[in-house]
Amino acid sequence: MLRTMKQTLHLYNTRSRKLEPFSVPSPDHQVGLYLCGPTVYGAPHLGHGRSAVTFDLLVRYLRHLGYRVRSIRNITDVGHMTQETDGSGEDKVLKQAKKESRSPMEVAHHYTERYREDMRQLNVLPPSIEPTATGHIPEQIAFIEKLLREGHAYAVHGSVYFDVPRYERSHPYGVLARRKIEELRPGARPLIGSDEKRHPADFALWKRAPKEHIMGWPSPWGRGYPGWHAECAAMSTKYLTLPIDIHGGGSDLALHHDCERAQVQAHSGVPLARFWLHHNLVTVADQKMSKSAENAISLQACFAGAHPLLSRPYPPMVIRFFLLHAHYRRPLHFAEASLHQAAKSYEKLINGYKIALEKKTTKMAAQASPTPYAAEVRAACRACYAAMNNDLNTPQLISALSTLLGYLSASDHRAPLPSPVWEELLTTYILFVRDLLGLQPPSLSHGLLQALLHQYKRAKATQQYDEVDAIRAALDGEGIALQDKGQEVTWRYKII
Ligand code: ZN
Repeated sequence: MLRTMKQTLHLYNTRSRKLEPFSVPSPDHQVGLYLCGPTVYGAPHLGHGRSAVTFDLLVRYLRHLGYRVRSIRNITDVGHMTQETDGSGEDKVLKQAKKESRSPMEVAHHYTERYREDMRQLNVLPPSIEPTATGHIPEQIAFIEKLLREGHAYAVHGSVYFDVPRYERSHPYGVLARRKIEELRPGARPLIGSDEKRHPADFALWKRAPKEHIMGWPSPWGRGYPGWHAECAAMSTKYLTLPIDIHGGGSDLALHHDCERAQVQAHSGVPLARFWLHHNLVTVADQKMSKSAENAISLQACFAGAHPLLSRPYPPMVIRFFLLHAHYRRPLHFAEASLHQAAKSYEKLINGYKIALEKKTTKMAAQASPTPYAAEVRAACRACYAAMNNDLNTPQLISALSTLLGYLSASDHRAPLPSPVWEELLTTYILFVRDLLGLQPPSLSHGLLQALLHQYKRAKATQQYDEVDAIRAALDGEGIALQDKGQEVTWRYKII
């Protein structure tokens, strides 16, 4: 119902390279959304944060518009190769396990838990289902068997490869990554990692496991393990109806997604997804941030300020704001100055949220006549929706919220707004800051804060200045600054 009242959400579809209106086939349709999740072999970093937070914003907004959403975010705990493009090379989980002298499943479990904890701190809503690759081996084998039966794949010495040239005869391959297989004719360049493939563009669906390879499962082709592209294809089709409404991840996954598309189209005769959403990458010193490039800054390092590029800690909500402040299709450049600016902007927005909550309990004049000012406030509220409908344009949204905050802060000195407009102003501001951007204030309970304020006033009245200073310092550590104006003691959030 709500979505018919607002303008239509438009999303940029990587497949068509156009902004397209988002709609569903029927009113009771459940939106299926699949985000390619992390490979759990290292500490989650800002790049992982950007991916999860971007899709979290989308899920929150879709739900607000009245859609039922089933969101899937998988855990890649096996088979993510070093040579990502063709599925050859060394398994990253296994490589890390050797480095840490742990079993691969220990490594995968440890980093899966750490990823979940970091996402919780970033206030990312948990997905509806979070399937793991190791938990879906039979599904992947069944998926590959069907591809083999129908001639879309071939087995060689215990490994199975997807036949890309055969697929290309009936469907375009490489649409998302803009990769042309003509450039990869046999002989055009040497085959990487394997001489078993018939064509360089073919990719591994199943890999034979050498004896020393600990992560291996029995299969019709012998002991082995699934290829990364096969994992997502089997898991997405298990839990979502085809075509999936929205499928996505980082722009560096475009080729992985082309491989998923080809498999699912060949397997089921149906396109994998209607919308392909790709966020841009986090960069540091003009390079993509990644564990393999060894320039990754972990989320925990940001929260604790424990990194040579950081001079202080940045709370998870500042990092969330930093990850959202640029439009998701633009690169996000990491620099401490940007985190500092994000902290200031978050502080401003969250103090506005405090004002909005306080004003919600304040009665406005019941009968105020409409003024041009009221029309401006309404337009500013609509601008928040317009920003989100414009391909989740967060910079535009943050600017619209700043305008709303201006009206909110000036309300004491201006003619009262008509009640419905005043209500709309408060509701819109709170909705977008707290529920859609997902920003939370520092977490000190209201009761505890009131008790400390009471104690502060009493200590001041009895001239116990050591205690006054101690309470002030303790609150400061919790992100709360006291403003002592003689008789009146107020407070505000202080992040930086
Ligand atoms: Zn995937």
